[in-house]
Amino acid sequence: MDTLSFENTETAFAYKSNRELKKARFLFSTMARPFLVKMGTRVTPLLIRMHFPIKGLVRRTIFSQFVGGETLGETARVVSKLDPFHVQIILDYGVEGKEGEENFDHATEEFIKVIRYAKSQPHVPFMSIKPTGLARFGLLQKLNDIARAADVLQGIVTMQGLSDAEKAEWQKVVQRLERICAVAAESDTGVLIDAEESWIQHPVDALVMRMMQQFNTGKVVIYNTLQMYRHDRLQFLKDSYEASVRGNFLLGMKPVRGAYMEKERNRAAELNYPSPIQPDKDHTDQDYNACVEFCLRHLDRISLVVASHNEFSNLRATELMEQLGIAPANDHVWFSQLYGMSDNITFNLARSGFNATKYLPFGPIRDVISYLMRRAQENTPVSGQTGRELALINKELERRAV
Ligand SMILES: Cc1cc2nc3c(=O)[nH]c(=O)nc-3n(C[C@H](O)[C@H](O)[C@H](O)COP(=O)(O)OP(=O)(O)OC[C@H]3O[C@@H](n4cnc5c(N)ncnc54)[C@H](O)[C@@H]3O)c2cc1C
Repeated sequence: MDTLSFENTETAFAYKSNRELKKARFLFSTMARPFLVKMGTRVTPLLIRMHFPIKGLVRRTIFSQFVGGETLGETARVVSKLDPFHVQIILDYGVEGKEGEENFDHATEEFIKVIRYAKSQPHVPFMSIKPTGLARFGLLQKLNDIARAADVLQGIVTMQGLSDAEKAEWQKVVQRLERICAVAAESDTGVLIDAEESWIQHPVDALVMRMMQQFNTGKVVIYNTLQMYRHDRLQFLKDSYEASVRGNFLLGMKPVRGAYMEKERNRAAELNYPSPIQPDKDHTDQDYNACVEFCLRHLDRISLVVASHNEFSNLRATELMEQLGIAPANDHVWFSQLYGMSDNITFNLARSGFNATKYLPFGPIRDVISYLMRRAQENTPVSGQTGRELALINKELERRAV
């Protein structure tokens, strides 16, 4: 095994041609201008909704950098492009913000198609699901408000005070996820359930716990997401672990730092409740690394997906694996970065024999536009990632002397 280094840009960008690399440089340079990003993230979704003819431009730029295609079939191009580098794929049907029973049923069928497709491909071990793709936000929020922490850990959703129609609506949500998980278990495809706003998380946690009780018996199929920018998640991980020991099932855990920090803080301030977010970045980092360590020390019961672009956290995880005698390719340890970002981490991990994956969304432009706008915001200099991406791309272009 080569010594792992995230500075190796030759490995990081081997899958990109000179032309593609220059295109990426142009895109990241554009995102380095906060004014352009601010204007673009406000105007672009609006123009798309108005059917203004800018889809071609979006498709050629930000869409092709961060998204695998408009259809499931189109993602095959990316899968086979990354395959020679041993980088695997987590497929994400990127529909967001579509409510209504018809849309939820449609999404369920799409998720099942994704699982069947994943099974037909040798290098797609996981797919991901956004809970709000299957359930009404308002219903989740209502269930959240009446949830009890002890029930959540047992996979029980409290329904006191819900109308009969709401109870029936929730039953349909449970059935949708149950169907998806059953097909996934049969197909040996892991299901990662994303985390969204904290004020809908209790029923999501309870539901995921119930799915884990049901399907994570001989092997891990279902994974929950832990947003470590929340100050209560490390404890929640430990409590989940205890619950899994008591209930004799396995845990799947995907720690992330969390993508909705401003929204969380603003809501807490507006509604005058204590913010669920850590006091500062250091606390988030400490809990993130502690969470990864806890999982690595309990691999007999936990399967872990380290989902982060933070170089220190990724490196620390690999060092700890070595200290604990965990083989890089252990099937309970996975690493994942978003497609289009932090290739230096993913491709160098893969080259050193770790289970490295890219989280690859796909879907029509109008459905993935919120995802794209989040990526643009995340890549402004204020959020800190652009400088790093640009420096790496420039370094590689210089090395190639083009
Ligand atoms: C494969 C994958 C799957 C993901 N799935 C989800 C998901 O399901 N749900 C979700 O919410 N996000 C998800 N994310 C996004 C993730 O939560 C982060 O927004 C993103 O990855 C940046 O964090 P980082 O660990 O990469 O690194 P870093 O760049 O080191 O951390 C940035 C993060 O630190 C936190 N932070 C920054 N400043 C502060 C502060 N002042 N105080 C406290 N915390 C702070 C914030 O969470 C911020 O996003 C996913 C990311 C990946 C790679």
